Amino acid sequence: MIDILIKGADIIDGSGNPAYKGDVAIQDNKIVKIGEVNEPSEKTIYAQGLVLSPGFIDVHGHSDMFAFVDPDRSSKLCQGITTEICGQCGLGPAPVGSEYISQYTSYFKSQGAPIYPECNTFTTFGKYLDYMSTLSLGINMAYFIPHGTVRMAAMGLSPEKPTARQLGKMTELVDEGMKRGALGLSSGLMYAPGMFADSSELEALCKVVGQYGGIYTSHIRDQGNQLEECVAETIRIAESSGAKANISHHKASGKNNWGKVKNTCSMIHNANITVMHDVYPYAASSTLIRSTLPPNVQKMDQNDIITYLKDVNNHELLKKSIFNPDKNFESPLASCGYDGILIFDAAHTKDAIGKTIEQYADYLGIQPFDAFIKILTENSLGAGYIGFSMSEDDVETLVADSLCMFGTDGLYVPGMPMTHPRAIGTFPRILGRYVREKHVLTLEEAIRKMTSLPAKYYGLENKGEINVGMDADIVLFDAERIIDHSDYQQPLLQNEGIHLVIVNGKIAVEHDKYLGIKNGALLKAIHSKNLSENFTFSTKMSSFINMG
Ligand SMILES: [Zn+2]
Repeated sequence: MIDILIKGADIIDGSGNPAYKGDVAIQDNKIVKIGEVNEPSEKTIYAQGLVLSPGFIDVHGHSDMFAFVDPDRSSKLCQGITTEICGQCGLGPAPVGSEYISQYTSYFKSQGAPIYPECNTFTTFGKYLDYMSTLSLGINMAYFIPHGTVRMAAMGLSPEKPTARQLGKMTELVDEGMKRGALGLSSGLMYAPGMFADSSELEALCKVVGQYGGIYTSHIRDQGNQLEECVAETIRIAESSGAKANISHHKASGKNNWGKVKNTCSMIHNANITVMHDVYPYAASSTLIRSTLPPNVQKMDQNDIITYLKDVNNHELLKKSIFNPDKNFESPLASCGYDGILIFDAAHTKDAIGKTIEQYADYLGIQPFDAFIKILTENSLGAGYIGFSMSEDDVETLVADSLCMFGTDGLYVPGMPMTHPRAIGTFPRILGRYVREKHVLTLEEAIRKMTSLPAKYYGLENKGEINVGMDADIVLFDAERIIDHSDYQQPLLQNEGIHLVIVNGKIAVEHDKYLGIKNGALLKAIHSKNLSENFTFSTKMSSFINMG
């Protein structure tokens, strides 16, 4: 008998083709029939007036930092997301080098990420995946190997060039991760220790990734004044190493740079290798406040950074390097300004939450720079902010681009007082604001960019299309109503218009509410080393459904 029968929906199959009316039957974890289906079923859903599409793929998520504490990932499911690509921006829990465990622990604590005793055992990427496969996950998750963590495992937080032995160790770790099913390598070149890597180091590691037909995805060094140069660096690394590439959360930060994304989009389209990009649909970014510090400070140990910041004798020099950006470093504090940095996570200066640095300084009656130092030091660097430095026109350019996919870049677990609204509202916002209200792209094209486009690029077999035999990852939504309500002041407001989210054949969300069903799978890439001469969509992913 059919498990779930959805009757009379407007089916948008993910391929970009126009919607058509039909029934969809699900049995076990697969789509088994499409068309007019009149067989008995355990559960029948009448879906007249609703759109049925493949489950959305969040191509840039950070759930790996929190999946230990919150494997449900309900904030993703309630947006219609059924698959997430994790391990982004060069940061993630594995692999850890046994010699550098204390640096690793204090580093991730300063990122506000929960570190568990198990983390110390993730000495290879494969061991980490083995551990993840024991958890019941709410969504399907696939992984990148994070370059920053790999570098830390081989040489701690050293800002030096790796020795041949250290580079050899990094190469080995990347090779092991690729063998065990990672999609490729991610880098975060704005953060320590990723920022200490030059192109040749990244190219050496991407050669390994390229041999497996994998992908290099990069949070580039500078998303502002040096945007074009940094996109060019990513494309160059891809072209010379043979890895496909992706520009993470593509944007132009700082008023002087608005409009540059038109050039960088052309660079992506004209590359001699498959290059893609992703965007979140907001004109404000979000990251950790320690990323506003210049490299010479970020390279220090956690405690040394705090001591350095507390010493007023260093403040003039620090101000200079933050507010006079050079080729090697542009602080987000310079592009956003004190009034453009909104604190949303600061456990030890709770009265700063929801205020800009300027507002917090006024509230305390001190100078903005001193408020900035206070937030950093009292929170042991572990504070998060939302930065207002982008243009809405650029967001629209990127949302409309045919090679641009969508990612939340979201970090949220239930219990957090605030977050960037992208963690809650990204996908409903694309469909409500950019499709229905602003007509930036058609509904069919938006769905294609949320489903079959990433499924093909990342090699997610059986995902991303409504077809017989495909995995039953399905979203049913009201295209006339779907919208996000989460905003910068009230980020936890829920979306509306999502009727049903099905993950591998089980209903996880009904009428915008998460039902507590965890039926996600850990997705592993099956690469065949040296067999992928062409760099089209060659990697295949297989899914391992978690039991229990
Ligand atoms: Zn990033």
